[in-house]
Amino acid sequence: MVDLFGQYREIETEILAEVKEVMENTAFINGPAVHDFSMALKDYLGSKYIITCGNGTDALQIALMALELPRGVKVAVPAFTYVATVEVIALLKLTPVFIEVDPDTFNMDPAHLEGMIQKHELRAIIPVHLYGQSADMNRIGKLAEDSGIPVIEDNAQAIGADYQLANGEVKKTGTMGNIGTFSFFPSKNLGAFGDGGALSTIDTDLAKRMKMIANHGQSSKYIHDLVGLNSRLDTLQAAILKVKLKHLDDYISRRQAVAARYDREFSDLSGLKIPARDKASTHVFHQYTIKVETGERDRLKEFLATKNIPSVVYYPVAQHLQKAYEAFGYKEGSFPVSEQLCKQVLSLPIHTQMKEDDLVYICGHVKAYFNG
Ligand SMILES: *Cc1c(COP(=O)(O)O)cnc(C)c1O
Repeated sequence: MVDLFGQYREIETEILAEVKEVMENTAFINGPAVHDFSMALKDYLGSKYIITCGNGTDALQIALMALELPRGVKVAVPAFTYVATVEVIALLKLTPVFIEVDPDTFNMDPAHLEGMIQKHELRAIIPVHLYGQSADMNRIGKLAEDSGIPVIEDNAQAIGADYQLANGEVKKTGTMGNIGTFSFFPSKNLGAFGDGGALSTIDTDLAKRMKMIANHGQSSKYIHDLVGLNSRLDTLQAAILKVKLKHLDDYISRRQAVAARYDREFSDLSGLKIPARDKASTHVFHQYTIKVETGERDRLKEFLATKNIPSVVYYPVAQHLQKAYEAFGYKEGSFPVSEQLCKQVLSLPIHTQMKEDDLVYICGHVKAYFNG
């Protein structure tokens, strides 16, 4: 699905120079590269504060902890997402209120969110910018603002995407809510050579709290004002990310070029739906995810596997139906769109190193499958 080695090879000299510097400095924890990367990311995003941490899941947890929500209160989260978004809510003894997603964009459905705001006292909303495209932040943002509910954007999959707000202003995903969270898991669009994560905010108090929480709740050495955790971005990973951030826009264009090619090749196939675009958002294509009729999807996946073409179902089970969250009382049928997507989505290979030969081969076999 990705070619991390090919990508590394292109920037090997730059990476090794940075890594060498870290080795020679031996400042492995909170070395200068961590600060440098934070500043570079802040500028790239047009944010005010960046707090780095251990991974994207920790970022979500730190964000929720910083909101200081009392035990048991309700947090809205899409039913169709990666488990991490839901897990941190449960871990902190908060209550997830699942929200249905839009069948075309796969993102949180604002109309359903609106209904849930009327029905429940929500204390936070976590939209996820799934597969690399922003959720409907104009409507979600308005609903949140009108009801005074903070928004945490889970931006693990969409770093670098641009979103046009209703007032015409263009912002990067992860900088529109009260807090944005990021993951630098190796296969993400900005991937480290190990784990990494970050938070973005323009709120000075939140920034202070999140920084403390990520570091044992420490306000000054050995003084702990908050219950925190130990979540750090390694200096080595920061050094690598510093290099890769300079290439992020190029990486995004390359992914977009692959997506445009798939779109062209597949747009006439009946039985396959190419990914829908939200007019307000650019799409950075962390995944290129097609929809195929229930039943047919698994047959296509098996067919591709016989041709050595990898494909992945992100995600086969909606979060409200996971055993871990059964205590929250949802059942089959609670979220028909999310449940159906689990049976219909399929992500095809997309990355920065795709060759023309790969594209011809993949497109040829996908088209052969549908054209019989
Ligand atoms: C990857 C991912 C995370 C978690 O990031 P880690 O760095 O692996 O902890 C959270 N949410 C979404 C939507 C993700 O894709």
